[in-house]
Amino acid sequence: MERGRGLVFVVSAPSGAGKTSLCRDVAGRLPNLKYAISYTTRPPRVGEVDGRDYFFVGHDAFQDHVEKSNFVEWAEIYGYLYGTSRAWMADQVGHGVDVILDLDTQGAQALRAVYPDAASIYLLPPSLDILRERLIRRQSDTPEEVEKRLQMACIEMESYRQYDYVIVNAEYTTARTEIEAIILAKRARIGHIDLTWLDKILGGDL
Ligand code: 5GP
Repeated sequence: MERGRGLVFVVSAPSGAGKTSLCRDVAGRLPNLKYAISYTTRPPRVGEVDGRDYFFVGHDAFQDHVEKSNFVEWAEIYGYLYGTSRAWMADQVGHGVDVILDLDTQGAQALRAVYPDAASIYLLPPSLDILRERLIRRQSDTPEEVEKRLQMACIEMESYRQYDYVIVNAEYTTARTEIEAIILAKRARIGHIDLTWLDKILGGDL
C-alpha cells in the first residue's frame, strides 16, 4: 500500500497537565508516529537534553530562524521563544509519517493555518488543586513561577473549546489510551487509507 500524507496531531494543555510525557510516550508506542522536537530559547531544566527534549538555542539564533521563515509556527511563552521546524514537519508529513506536537494554544492555532486537517486535543487536569500539586511536585519552578503558571493555566484553559477533542488527565494510562484511540481512529478514516486496489476490483478493472 502506498503511503499518503502523514497526519498531524496537536496536543495542548496548561503546563503541569502532563502533556509532554504523554505525547512522547504515545510517539514511542505507536508505529509511524513521531514527536516534534521544538526549538526554544528557554534554558534546559535539570535532566533535559539538547536534541531530545528541545533544541536549545540562543535568542539571536532563534530570531534568525524566524527571519528565514524556518518555523511553521512560533510563540513567546513566559518570556521565552518556542518554535516548530517547518522543514522537519514537511519532510515527515510528506513521507507519510504522522506527527504529534505539544504546543501552546497560539501555536496550535497557527499550525492549523498550515495543516488545516490537524486533529487537536486539549488535555485538562482533573482540577486546579491537582494541577498546582503537579507543578509543585515537578520542583523545577520557583513558588512564584508555579503561581504564574497557574494563573496562565486558568487563562489557557478557556481555549479548550477551540479543540476537536478534550481529555481529562486524571490517570496517566487512561489518558494515554484515549490519545492513542484518537490517533488510531483518525488513521482508520475513509479517505486516509489508500484503497485503490479495492476500488480497482470494485470498478471491474480485473
Ligand atoms: P515548557 O517550557 O514547560 O517545556 O513549555 C512551555 C509551553 O511551551 C508548553 O505549553 C508547550 O506546549 C509549549 N511549546 C513547546 N514547544 C512549542 C513550540 O514549538 N511552539 C509553541 N507554540 N509552543 C510550544
